[in-house]
Amino acid sequence: MSTDLGEVQISFDRSSTRLPLHATVRLEQAVLSSWNSEAYWPALAVALGLGALFGILLARSRRMEGPVADLDRALAAGEFTPYYQPIFDLRTGQITGCEVLARWVRRDGVVVPPMNFIPLAESSGRIEAMTWQILRSALSDLEVVLRADKSFKMSVNVVPKHLLSAGFVETLRRTVLAARISARQIVVEVTERDELDDLDRAATIVAELRDHGFRVAIDDVGVGHSGLSRLKGLGANTIKIDKFFVDTITVDASTTTIVEMLVALAKDFRMTVVAEGIETEEQRRALIASGVEEGQGYLVAAPLPFAKFSELVESHRHSASAAPAGDVLVA
Ligand code: C2E
Ligand code: CA
Ligand code: CA
Repeated sequence: MSTDLGEVQISFDRSSTRLPLHATVRLEQAVLSSWNSEAYWPALAVALGLGALFGILLARSRRMEGPVADLDRALAAGEFTPYYQPIFDLRTGQITGCEVLARWVRRDGVVVPPMNFIPLAESSGRIEAMTWQILRSALSDLEVVLRADKSFKMSVNVVPKHLLSAGFVETLRRTVLAARISARQIVVEVTERDELDDLDRAATIVAELRDHGFRVAIDDVGVGHSGLSRLKGLGANTIKIDKFFVDTITVDASTTTIVEMLVALAKDFRMTVVAEGIETEEQRRALIASGVEEGQGYLVAAPLPFAKFSELVESHRHSASAAPAGDVLVA
């Protein structure tokens, strides 16, 4: 191959060794490069197409492996499991009910706390399916306890958006009916941590729930958006005083004043009061002195898997029946 630099040519020479033949092919460099670029564009188009396809497949596979897909897999596998924390009479220690608290029990046995998946379930629109799954499991777990003691109440957490969604009351009614449990034993806990943007609609739904016999509790009272008029306006049966006040009641006199005020308000509105997060005897006594009647907290038990919770209920039942009438379990 030789190149004529003057005309920018490329030439190929071939001679036969057996015959008197010689061939020369000469090309101008410009022609060659135009051939190259003609070949380049279709190749580029194909490469871009393949690249885009690959990109889409990659993005899709990432989505399939992301945290929302994990939630979907866990929902399909029924990995969201109810744990149960007793709610007790502060004076007698008698277990009057329980709060259902969600746990994600992974296949490998790792237990994931709700704060690590409830916010994502909420933002990705999975919270409704998750709530119904947990409620159905809880109804089936607690069936015997709920039938044996008609005053025993089971509280379930429902996010405001779910409460306000179309068909919530009807689905709840059908689910509880199908489990043959009385609506009177079910408490719907709605947090007031986030604003219930449509208070009128919320009040209508609360009224509808109560018409069907369900009870409603306002959760996390004192740390959210409730003006006192909002608490009244919602028409709930119970207010749950947030752990924040329980933590400080023994150290801060102004907390005692707030708790006493909430208790007085609850009485006026014919609501009951439950205090959350009671860890010490001292807190229990201070809450009783402020007029609170029921509570929950590590003092009696942390949220427990069903088998442990049911053992606890049994052992309390035995100790209560062994104790003389009117005896006070925790003085
Ligand atoms: P919450 O409804 O205010 O539930 C009470 C939380 O306080 C629970 O945390 C409980 O384990 C914890 N707690 C109870 N007693 C004590 C105590 O004595 N000391 C301390 N340090 N903590 C105590 P958990 O189970 O981690 O749940 C956190 C939150 O996640 C709940 O707060 C609730 O807002 C949400 N959550 C839990 N399960 C569900 C559910 O099924 N659905 C919805 N929407 N939210 C849920
Ligand atoms: Ca709650
Ligand atoms: Ca709470």
